[in-house]
Amino acid sequence: MLRILLVEDQRDIAANIWDYLEFRGFVMDHAADGANGLRMALGGVYDVIVLDLGLPKLDGIDLCRALREAGHNTPVLMLTARDTLQDKLIGFAEGADDYVVKPFAMKELEARIRALYRRGRLQHGDLLHVADLTLDPVKLTVERAGQTLNLTRAGFVLLETLMRRAPNLVRHNDLAHALWGEGGGDIATLHTHFSVLRSAIDRPFETRLLHTVHGFGYRIAEHAEA
Ligand code: CA
Repeated sequence: MLRILLVEDQRDIAANIWDYLEFRGFVMDHAADGANGLRMALGGVYDVIVLDLGLPKLDGIDLCRALREAGHNTPVLMLTARDTLQDKLIGFAEGADDYVVKPFAMKELEARIRALYRRGRLQHGDLLHVADLTLDPVKLTVERAGQTLNLTRAGFVLLETLMRRAPNLVRHNDLAHALWGEGGGDIATLHTHFSVLRSAIDRPFETRLLHTVHGFGYRIAEHAEA
């Protein structure tokens, strides 16, 4: 499941991109100005940031620069109406990874996002491993002890979120955010998703990998102690 932060101030464009990408299976978050976009980019876990160049409060170039200065290397795809070479060069110098000129076809946008994501993954190592559990974020597959596991969409998102931060605890709020975006979902539903996930990844096997930290969240690790 690819998590996208869309930073775009034009409501109609933002809504079009959101609807298209969500329908295509992406998990979407949106910020309508640069200051909020930077706050969300720094605080969240995103696979690709789709960033408009001209934004209120903080423009795309400044946001990108601040993000890189803070040590974040999430791939950034810039959107702009200004298709001059000058803007492209500035965007790349400040750490944007790719560039799409408005108006663009949604298919083109999706292809660029997927290409950036694959490039980012290859740089960071393709697969996530915890003990004998392996998750492939590109192929969307999970295996344990060589056996393919069938997970729900929610289960996959939650497992990927935990595995990216393993063996650390991930709090309920962050898990809910990964699954439903800003302000979505509820803890009871989250626990239900985890009980389904636990049946899939732990029940058939000897060692428990998914650990509940009561009142806080979940962690995935070979050993129960933190
Ligand atoms: Ca704009």
